[in-house]
Amino acid sequence: MGLELPQLNYDYDALEPYIDAETMELHHSKHHAAYTAKLNAAIDGTELDNLTIEEIMVNGFENAAVRNNGGGYWNHSLFWNTMSPNGGGEPSGTLANAIMDKFGSFEGMKEEFSNAAMTRFGSGWAWLCVCAGELCICSTPNQDNPLMLGEGVPILGLDVWEHAYYKKFGPARSDYIESWWNVVDWVRVSENFENAI
Ligand code: MN
Repeated sequence: MGLELPQLNYDYDALEPYIDAETMELHHSKHHAAYTAKLNAAIDGTELDNLTIEEIMVNGFENAAVRNNGGGYWNHSLFWNTMSPNGGGEPSGTLANAIMDKFGSFEGMKEEFSNAAMTRFGSGWAWLCVCAGELCICSTPNQDNPLMLGEGVPILGLDVWEHAYYKKFGPARSDYIESWWNVVDWVRVSENFENAI
């Protein structure tokens, strides 16, 4: 059985100039593929095989290989799905209202999220989540995520591992974060919000 590397809904160069094609290709075909292969090796022949990735992350949490590679599999799947060449701008509808209620403005949410991404020391992720029925922002180390930790349901995530930005931006993580907002697919994030709330 095992899990398959998800295909992207766009070409590797589709997010240019905000995310470069070389980074996208390496990130998907090497990094995400490696998490997928190592996760499959870790669950092969165990009781975790044939479960959903969400069940695998929660039930296999105590196993470091499952935790790291299961998180890597799930996190990158969300990451690809919440970016689009037609992204950027701001959300509308119920997500926009929820952002206003919680953060006061779209810019307020963006600032708190970017700060979470900037202040995550070393490798990890920044998240916009639904936590106990409302929006919240946090970050996690390595390939952890709030879902496996039982802390919330991510609807948008940003990879701040150096492999996500170093080729184009060098050590300037802040430039990468600012660039990434231009490809966030708010239609998809809104769907995630509706499903999580
Ligand atoms: Mn990554």
